[in-house]
Formats: sequence, C-alpha cells, structure tokens
Amino acid sequence: MAARTHSGMRGIAAVPSYVVMQPTTLCNLDCAYCYLPLRAADRRMPVEVAEAVAASVNPWAAAGRFSVVWHGGEPLAAGQEHLAALLAPFGPEVEHHVQTNATLIDDAWCAFFVEHGVRVSVSVDGPRERNAERVTRGGRAAYDRILAGVTALRRHGLPFSALAVVSRPGPGLATELYDYFLDLGCDVLGVNIEETEGVNTRSNARDAAAVTGFWAELVGAWRRDPRIHLREVEWSLRYAGAVLAGTAEELLPRRLDPIPTVAHDGSVVVLSPELAGFTHPRYGDFGSGNVLTTPLAEILAGAGRTPWVAEFLTGVEACRSSCPYFGFCGGGHAANRYFEQGRFDGTETEHCRNSKIRLLEGVLEHAREHQSPAV
Ligand code: SF4
Repeated sequence: MAARTHSGMRGIAAVPSYVVMQPTTLCNLDCAYCYLPLRAADRRMPVEVAEAVAASVNPWAAAGRFSVVWHGGEPLAAGQEHLAALLAPFGPEVEHHVQTNATLIDDAWCAFFVEHGVRVSVSVDGPRERNAERVTRGGRAAYDRILAGVTALRRHGLPFSALAVVSRPGPGLATELYDYFLDLGCDVLGVNIEETEGVNTRSNARDAAAVTGFWAELVGAWRRDPRIHLREVEWSLRYAGAVLAGTAEELLPRRLDPIPTVAHDGSVVVLSPELAGFTHPRYGDFGSGNVLTTPLAEILAGAGRTPWVAEFLTGVEACRSSCPYFGFCGGGHAANRYFEQGRFDGTETEHCRNSKIRLLEGVLEHAREHQSPAV
C-alpha cells in the first residue's frame, strides 16, 4: 500500500495555508512532555506584530481559505483584552483557531469565542488517569480544570476539536480513548504519539507492534461509531483510497506548506513551531526573519535560503528516494529530525515510525483482520 513515488512536491510554497501565532510564551500548566522552553515567562506579543502579520495574511485570506492558529504558551493566558487587540488587525475572511489547555475557559471566554468567531481545539489526553502528565506549575493534576473548561464549551453549544498525546500505547487504550472522546463531545480528534522535541528529551522509541496495534485498534473503534473526524485515520484512508485509485501522487501538495510560526517578538520560524525559542551554534535561532522589519510574504519567499531549511530540503529529497512511505508522509517533521538526530538531512525518525509508518501499517492490519472492502 505504501506506494513509492518519485514526483510530488519540491521546495517550499510562498503562500502558507495557515499561520501559527504566539500571543504569549506563558502557560499556566507545566505538562511533563511539553516542548516549550519559555512557558514560565509571560512575554506577550505586541499588537504591532499582529498588524504586520495581518498585512500579509489579509490578502491571502481574501483569495482563499486561510487560518490563524493562536498557540502558545497557553494563548488564553494572554487575557481577553490583549487577545482581542491581537485579533483586531485581521480581516473578516481570516478563520481564527485557538489551541488551548481549556483550564481558563469560562462563560466569558465562550462569549469571546462567539463574538470573534474563534474555533477551539482542546488539549486533553483522555480520562482523568490518562492526564497524569498534565499538571499545574505547583504539580497538581489539571484534569478537573480541563473538564470544567470543556463543560463551559458544551454549555454554550460551541463545537470543539480535541488533541490527545499518547505516551504509552498498549492494548485496550485506543478503544478507551475513542469512547472517552465520543462522550466528551468533540467533533474532530487528533492523536499524537509523544514526541522527543524541544525541552522534552524523553525517548520516543516505542515497541513497533504496540504502536501498530494501537492504530489498528483505533481504526476499529472509529469504524464502530464514526461520529468523530479522526484526523490520522482519515488521512490514512484517503491515502489508501488514492493508492487503490492510482491517484496517490496527486495527494501531496506540489510544495511544502511553510506553516510560519510567528513568535511573541515577531520572529518567524517556518515548518516547525517546536523550533521557535531555540538556538544552535550552527543554525542560529532557526529564524527566517522578523515581521517587524520584513513583510511576512517576503520572509516566506526567501525561507528556502535559511541554512537549516536548505539542509532539511536535502533530507526531504533523501526521504523521497529511499522511503516507501513518502507518498503518504511527504517527509515533513523538521523538528523531529533535529531533536532526535541533531541535524535536518536525516530520514527516518522514531516520530515518523510511530506516527506515519506504523499508522499506515495499523490501518492495513485492521483491514487484513476484517477483510473490509472499505479500506
Ligand atoms: S519522514 Fe519518515 S516516513 Fe516520512 S518519508 Fe521520511 S523516512 Fe519516510
């Protein structure tokens, strides 16, 4: 099923499909697996940074669907007044999203989301006992506060997505998680196997059969009640369908989406939000420019010349010529290469094994076991 492909994308697109913005570096939680280096500091994005980004984004949004994802830190820790001031420069066509730990969501925040048309994605790892890594700065479990935030969203009838991190995949977990998220009421679910990134240096090497089995079980749980859009499974099924139809090579975009992350101070890191805030003797601060001095559109047009990005593109070409999963994966994951291998031109990482290769193998395992014509 993992069709070898030799064409597909080359280089980086000049126009992204979304921009990630960091309204504050601060997070009110201190999760054990978090990659953010400055999450204890409250460095807020000045409104001038949002105005500069909006100058490039508004024309893109007028020409087609475009999102701004307010990430963090914890974006709601910036406060409603400041977040509203950061949203103000963006035109009405721009879709706004927040990725939040939900602990600060109350009735007032729900009213804010409605007023500003903000879509909400909540980070929660499953039932209470699965959230042991999600703790406050004082080390106390955050689960009750997360649930209170989600309850507020539901009380206001606001649809929301969920993002779960799985640290120890094993039998039974996928079914437990899927049933939990059905009850929680999210309409979209993304599942990440824990990654070695940023200041999280814990190894993400996992038993291959356990990870493949986790994904296979998740497909089974989803197929029994597919009310949730399950991000990873839907990607896989779309790819499997395209391989069977002989159209897999059309699935990858022609060029990598640059996915710029604009940090609190206006500096721009492309492709991997996880690199923002780090420095390296050879790669510097990984930045491609600063929106306070150069328009975002201009920064992205030259992003391919950023030294680490050029090295990464060499790695993507190595993936293209060596990996049978390239047609599905596209060879992304710059930050995973760097944090696992110390450089950008390698190929297979533990992350791509867990989240691409074994995902596809898991979908196939499920199909083999169930002999289903649907997959
Ligand atoms: S990142 Fe990993 S799965 Fe993706 S194309 Fe490269 S080697 Fe293959």
